[in-house]
Amino acid sequence: MYNVKSMKAEEFIDYYEIMETLDYAQRNRHNRELLNSVMEKARLKKGLSHREALLLFNCDISEINEEIYALAKQIKLDFYGNRIVMFAPLYLSNYCVNGCTYCPYHCQNKHITRKKLSQEEIIKEVIALQDMGHKRLAIESGEDNINNPIEYILESIKTIYSIKHKNGAIRRVNVNIAATTVENYRKLKDAGIGTYILFQETYNKESYETLHPTGPKHNYAYHTEAMDRAMEGGIDDVGLGVLFGLENHQFELAGILMHAEHLEAVHGVGPHTISVPRIKRADDINPDDFTQGIDDDTFAKIISVIRIAVPYTGMIISTRESAKCRERVLELGISQISGGSRTSVGGYAEPESDDENSSQFDVSDNRTLDEVVNWLMKNNHIPSFCTACYREGRTGDRFMSLCKSGQISNCCLPNALMTLKEYLEDYASKDTRNLGNVLIEKEIENISNPKVKMLAEEYIKNIHKGQRDFRF
Ligand code: SAM
Repeated sequence: MYNVKSMKAEEFIDYYEIMETLDYAQRNRHNRELLNSVMEKARLKKGLSHREALLLFNCDISEINEEIYALAKQIKLDFYGNRIVMFAPLYLSNYCVNGCTYCPYHCQNKHITRKKLSQEEIIKEVIALQDMGHKRLAIESGEDNINNPIEYILESIKTIYSIKHKNGAIRRVNVNIAATTVENYRKLKDAGIGTYILFQETYNKESYETLHPTGPKHNYAYHTEAMDRAMEGGIDDVGLGVLFGLENHQFELAGILMHAEHLEAVHGVGPHTISVPRIKRADDINPDDFTQGIDDDTFAKIISVIRIAVPYTGMIISTRESAKCRERVLELGISQISGGSRTSVGGYAEPESDDENSSQFDVSDNRTLDEVVNWLMKNNHIPSFCTACYREGRTGDRFMSLCKSGQISNCCLPNALMTLKEYLEDYASKDTRNLGNVLIEKEIENISNPKVKMLAEEYIKNIHKGQRDFRF
């Protein structure tokens, strides 16, 4: 029985509620009157329910579809401006005891090179990442309590935060590790993590159990209820995601929005981010073996509908997607992207030799961070290395109220410009630096509060003189 406030996975992600939602959306896909009334609500920019969102997703009236894309773009601009937050994944270990059928780290895979970084190797990786210009990382690890226990993850986080190399610093460490206990989430919170990210993979319980045949990840309820435990452990910012291609994408879209509604209903704050990965080729994984893959148009519509349904939730896209695909969806709602990523363990400090392969999946966007930053600016986006909210304690509902207050242009915009300036001074190529300085001069005019604008101008001058780490 569907109950948004239930703490049981099968009740807040109720199968029948999803099936009825899909049926309702399908039946009403030409219902102009109903679709128009949902669009009217959507234009208030306060979000939509999963039913309303699925209705828009199914809409097959072309002019309303055009309005959906236009509104997604508008919401993106209103809440996030043209800023894109940059991050990189850091793979700590690919030892894993699970049997996930889509992931090359599964324990039956005997030919993948298994690696776990020592603290010395982590230092080398982080220095390489700092030298690229990164300030925000997402650490990734397989699940293996013997090889990668929570103590190892905690020690690694401490190491990462401690490294100060030249002007570099990792100022926010997000964590993507397997579902764990409240006690372990509390330890992660105490270690100062940013967002706890865990992809649901699929919200269809039956498929979930087939796709995760062995290992602790097989337990659907334990995995699906992880975000509630994380929040109980004090983590304010959680990141949801599904792996598109495993199951029917409409089922997943309804599921992820129901999950967001559940977090909001129970904890008073929805997910901080939603990620939209698609299955990629990897060591012994062929994406063609999964029959539910989605094309780029469907992908773009999913992103637009999520943008409209949860306007305050950041959306992340990784280098799983090509530059061309990323360019299209950045407009429609994506607010964070990775750049210069390596999905192998230890791949930043030393590229792997031909007989090694520890990577999780093939990267489609192989450009360097500088090339990505340059490309973003040429497409009128502001690459941002900002980590201010988390460091000022603006997490969870405090971040959401900043978002809702419309003060983002006086806070996020100057922070983005100042962190971009740091990047330009310390790491950019000449062409990127020139482009960036012109962009900063132009964008600073968009700071609406004159006092904030004056301070931001002063701070940017100070960054040029060698000072670092200003923030609002
Ligand atoms: N082991 C952890 C867990 O169980 O959640 C951590 C994360 S894993 C390193 C990160 C994510 O990569 C997974 O949640 C999955 O969605 C995604 N992934 C796995 N195999 C993939 C593939 N072949 N293509 C694209 N993404 C994949």
